[in-house]
Amino acid sequence: MTVPPTDSFERKIDYLRLSVTDRCNLRCTYCMPEDGVPKLDHSEILSYEEVLTLARIVVGMGISKIRITGGEPLVRRDIITLCSKISNIPGIKSLSLTTNGVLLPNFAEALFSAGIRRINVSLDTLKPEKFAAITRYDRFSDVWEGIAAAHRAGISPIKLNAVMLRGVNDDEIEDLARLTLSHPYHVRFIEHMPFNAGQGEGRERKFVAAPEILERLKKVAPLSICDEEQSNGPAVHFRFRDAPGKIGIISPVSNHFCPSCNRLRVTAEGKLRTCLFSKEETDLRQALRDNLPIEAICRIIRNAIASKPEKHELSSPVFRKCISRQMFSIGG
Ligand code: SAM
Ligand code: SF4
Repeated sequence: MTVPPTDSFERKIDYLRLSVTDRCNLRCTYCMPEDGVPKLDHSEILSYEEVLTLARIVVGMGISKIRITGGEPLVRRDIITLCSKISNIPGIKSLSLTTNGVLLPNFAEALFSAGIRRINVSLDTLKPEKFAAITRYDRFSDVWEGIAAAHRAGISPIKLNAVMLRGVNDDEIEDLARLTLSHPYHVRFIEHMPFNAGQGEGRERKFVAAPEILERLKKVAPLSICDEEQSNGPAVHFRFRDAPGKIGIISPVSNHFCPSCNRLRVTAEGKLRTCLFSKEETDLRQALRDNLPIEAICRIIRNAIASKPEKHELSSPVFRKCISRQMFSIGG
C-alpha cells in the first residue's frame, strides 16, 4: 500500500474531489445564475480517458479516496462506465458521489453496481414549493424518490446536505434534523460560503452560523456527539438519542477545518486546486495532453501539495470578499 503524500504542514493528503462536468440540470440560487453560465467547450473538459489516467496516477500516489462531483455529475454521458472503471483501480479504498439527486431514481442501482458505496445528496428543504424556489426547478419528488432508491440499492451512508440561508430555509433546521429520527440518513447542515453567485448583497444577513444551528438542534431532542465519526472529514457529528440517522454540522466559515484538511480538488477542465478558497490552480490537463511521463505528472501534483496553503483567509471581513470561481465550477 502506498503511503499518501503529506503537505508542508504534515497533513496527510489522501482524498480527491474530482469534478467531471461544469453543467447542471438545476440552478440553485446560491450556486448558479438563473440563465446559467457560459459552458466549457467539450474539448476543454477532461475526456474520460484523461480522467481515468489521472485517477490511476493519484491512486498510485496513495490518494485512495475519490469523490465524483460537478456541476451535476449524473448529467455527464456514460458516468456509470467511468465510475466502474475508477472503482476498479487497484488501491482505491473509496469511491463516492455528490449529486443533486434529480436523476438518482434511474441511476441508483447502476451506481451501486459501478462501485459507488457512499453518496451525498443536496437537499436544502423538505417543501416542494421551496425546493422549486431554491433550485429554480420543480424536481423535489424526483430527489426524494432518488434518495429512497439509493437506500434500496444498498448505498450507505446517504448524506443529505443542506446549505442554510436565513429567511430561506432556516425555518426547517428542526424538521431536517428530525429526518434522522425516522431514516438512517446523515443530515448535514452547511454554512453558506461567500462565492459570487446568488445571494449578493443579502449574503451577510442570510448567513446562519453553525453555533446557532447547534443551539436549535439541542432543543429538538437529547443530542450527543458521535465520537466514532469525528476523524472523518470536516463535519462535527451528533445523534439524537436512539436515532438511526446522524447529524453533521459543517462550518467552513465560522470555524474552519483547515488543520485537518486532507483534500485536493480537480476541476472539470483539469485544474488542480489544493484549497477550495485559493486562487492558485495547477494545469493538469496540459500535462496529460503533452503526454508527460507518469513520474513527471506525480512531481507536478507533489509540488502543488507542497504549496497547499495552511488555511483559507475567510476570516473577517468575510462577507465582503468573494471567490472568483463558484462551487459548480470548482467541484463542490
Ligand atoms: N450538483 C451536485 C450537488 O448539488 O450536490 C454537486 C455539485 S454542488 C456544487 C456540491 C455542493 O456544494 C452542494 O451540496 C451545494 O449545496 C454546495 N454549495 C454550492 N454553493 C455553495 C455555497 N455558496 N456555500 C455552501 N455550499 C455550496
Ligand atoms: Fe447544480 Fe449542485 Fe450548483 Fe445546485 S449546487 S446549481 S445542483 S451544481
